[in-house]
Amino acid sequence: MSETSPKLRAELEGIPTYKPGKPAAAGGPVAYKLSSNENPYPPLPGVMETVTAAACTFNRYPDMACTALMNELSDRFGVPLSHLATGTGSVGVAQQLIQATSGPGDEVIYAWRSFEAYPIITQISGATSVQVPLTSGDVHDLDAMADAITDRTRLIFVCNPNNPTGTVVRRAELERFLDRVPGDVLVVLDEAYREFIRDPEVPDGVELYRDRPNVCVLRTFSKAYGLAGLRVGFAIAHEPVAAALRKTAVPFGVSQLAQEAAIASLRAEDELLGRVGSLVCERTRVVDGLRAQGWTVPETQANFVWLRLGERTVPFAEACDQAGVVIRPFPGEGVRVTVGETEANDIFLKVAEGFRKEL
Ligand SMILES: *Cc1c(COP(=O)(O)O)cnc(C)c1O
Repeated sequence: MSETSPKLRAELEGIPTYKPGKPAAAGGPVAYKLSSNENPYPPLPGVMETVTAAACTFNRYPDMACTALMNELSDRFGVPLSHLATGTGSVGVAQQLIQATSGPGDEVIYAWRSFEAYPIITQISGATSVQVPLTSGDVHDLDAMADAITDRTRLIFVCNPNNPTGTVVRRAELERFLDRVPGDVLVVLDEAYREFIRDPEVPDGVELYRDRPNVCVLRTFSKAYGLAGLRVGFAIAHEPVAAALRKTAVPFGVSQLAQEAAIASLRAEDELLGRVGSLVCERTRVVDGLRAQGWTVPETQANFVWLRLGERTVPFAEACDQAGVVIRPFPGEGVRVTVGETEANDIFLKVAEGFRKEL
């Protein structure tokens, strides 16, 4: 047997592993998963029927071009087909965007802390991450991000609302930022939580992209539409960028189940957005409850809340675990807690209250 092993790219060394939210503990009392920002509602019956019917043909490859879904998206968002690209979740599309723009020697700018996939997909490409700290209020520091642009910058992520803090950037500051970014640098507006936004000052990326050829909007069916397990997301961008996404796509990446479920979900949008409305009410209840207990909670426009707990992060997460809610700790920094079922949110609030009293 040979002593040597296959040569792997040096860039892969030290890549942080993506930490999926822990599942709810099995076997014990009822446990709730508030660790992955998933939609707590089960699939709509109509969507289930569509997916079940589609399952009868999974001996066949899916429609590689996602034709029916692309047509539906084109109508829904009022964008030409040539400005659309689908992928295996918006994380898949984000990875394609980096592949299409950045390699060794290039720089990718994003806020930190932000979505944990950004450092991973950047490092895989061989490009260099430039992490710009959030402001003291846990918001993107867009001025500092613009200052960080160099000749080597190829792509900038703006996560709006930001995962894991839930904070947003508003229209005036985002437009001012976009005006400062050179036209040959791609700005990716990651709007995974767009449907949960209630602040009218937060711009819709789809409006911003229209007269800005270097802006790409990322959306997903995983959160508001409740299809996290089926892996489908999409990008809206001008032609050269959208075409590059179609070139870098894994052939047949989006399953027929996912395509059909996404179409059925767009057609059931009123009902799904009604559920989002209920979750937004729960969000208000959770944030108000925490503030009444004395916590400082950043303004969130997403389906989760952020508590900056520093050294007390892990003990807090353990207390939640024991009470039957699994949350997402970022050791040394804070916890991100998804707004879920009412009972789950109640348990979380109770743990937070107990913890607060011990301070
Ligand atoms: C959840 C999330 C996504 C969506 O991921 P999918 O791959 O579409 O499931 C993208 N960006 C951010 C910031 C997220 O939190």
